Amino acid sequence: MVIFKTARPLTAFLADARAASGPIGFVPTMGALHEGHLSLIRQSKAATGLTVCSIFVNPTQFNNADDLKHYPVTIESDIEMLIGAGCDVLFLPPVAEVYPAGHEKLRYDLGALEAVLEGAYRPGHFQGVCEVVDRLLEIVEPDHLFMGQKDFQQCLVIGRLLDLTNRAGRTALHVEPTLREKDGLAMSSRNRRLTPADRAKAIRMSQVLVGIRDRFASTPPRTLEQTAITELTEAGFKVDYVSISNRHTLLPLEPGDPAAVALVAASLGPVRLIDNLVLDSSAPTAG
Ligand code: AMP
Repeated sequence: MVIFKTARPLTAFLADARAASGPIGFVPTMGALHEGHLSLIRQSKAATGLTVCSIFVNPTQFNNADDLKHYPVTIESDIEMLIGAGCDVLFLPPVAEVYPAGHEKLRYDLGALEAVLEGAYRPGHFQGVCEVVDRLLEIVEPDHLFMGQKDFQQCLVIGRLLDLTNRAGRTALHVEPTLREKDGLAMSSRNRRLTPADRAKAIRMSQVLVGIRDRFASTPPRTLEQTAITELTEAGFKVDYVSISNRHTLLPLEPGDPAAVALVAASLGPVRLIDNLVLDSSAPTAG
């Protein structure tokens, strides 16, 4: 695996590699890698000629300074894991490479997507996500971009970013299923910050989502949301939202609309977790 810490040599390397190896796949991450990240690397390897992973803890997408300060950094084991998965290139830039002097901060028109759910609870978060992904796409120019359904709203936002920046024809977005621990907890870098007691409570999140899916056909969405909030609160979570939404717009699901996804965000102590489950039977589900 070749490691680049600066942008220009990486772009030049990839221009040559594209001719030799074929399409380039890209997996942007913030490190503290787990099997969920590696599944994206493996998908990329299966579908492209050369796989690039980036590890960059992007300060502009953190609306909470404490969350940024405590974000896990495990770079040595990350590198080992990427080599083990057969990743070809790692981009590991410092902040000044991603946001050099003169970097222009744009405002991305994300419409209602930015106003709901994570957008409402994490003001500015998706502008920061767009800022970093826009810049990383400029550097890597991938043919295929791999992201996890775990961050459902982020995938919709990035689809919109590709349209807004006229890259939709050039970079294909692939949304891959959420990888879970054996007990159902969605894998996340933040899970390693859970105390053993909170880790035990955390399994309720995916169980509550499965409960929603099981009752979805027979129970109105608002009732399911309220029940889930009660269940999570009783399990010890501080709930930001449980929402049964249209899976294209993320607006509250109208009764009878089959294009449904259940999304949840809730904290155990200082650790905020998110998860989701697609509810329509025709769409791929996780868990
Ligand atoms: P992060 O490092 O958390 O920014 O995540 C980097 C990429 O990995 C994003 O596209 C995430 O959606 C994806 N990802 C995170 N957790 C999982 C998971 N449990 N299963 C699949 N993909 C994931």
